Amino acid sequence: SMSMEDYDYLFKIVLIGNAGVGKTCLVRRFTQGLFPPGQGATIGVDFMIKTVEIKGEKVKLQIWDTAGQERFRSITQSYYRSANALILTYDITCEDSFRCLPEWLREIEQYANNQVVTILVGNKIDLAEKREVLRQRAEDFAESQSMLYLETSAKESDNVEKLFLDLACELIREA
Ligand code: GDP
Ligand code: MG
Repeated sequence: SMSMEDYDYLFKIVLIGNAGVGKTCLVRRFTQGLFPPGQGATIGVDFMIKTVEIKGEKVKLQIWDTAGQERFRSITQSYYRSANALILTYDITCEDSFRCLPEWLREIEQYANNQVVTILVGNKIDLAEKREVLRQRAEDFAESQSMLYLETSAKESDNVEKLFLDLACELIREA
């Protein structure tokens, strides 16, 4: 290629969802291959970059975490603007994080561009014995809202790679 760029695609991915559901841990697991100990999971930067290869094409993912703003409901339009994809995360062991999803969807409708690809993620599947949200219920909800659905464990690294790769594939398809 004659391009000066070191990638074929660049996508901005933004994680949203209640505080405590594991957004930062998902980003850390994917970009750094680690699960941060304790509660000190805040990245402290606006975004992380990871480049993946899909069918021979370099796909650069710019991944934005919410770094605590979700606690104060102060996520603004600028955060959603130009997002190609949203990872809407809840915690399968926390019914409340699932019940808040319609609120998050209203924000998406209000602030995101209407081509945005949204995937619903149920995190913490390693805590199966504490599950409060049945998989079928979440799948039905996702389908009713035209969202993809995946269950993950940032702790055990279950489906985390798949989450970002599936999303990248979908974004290429829609590009
Ligand atoms: P955020 O507020 O959405 O960014 O959530 P964090 O990534 O800071 O995680 C909140 C808490 O959940 C921390 O104590 C993490 O260790 C824990 N956590 C995150 N992901 C998982 C997971 O997949 N499994 C388990 N068991 N705990 C997790
Ligand atoms: Mg966080």
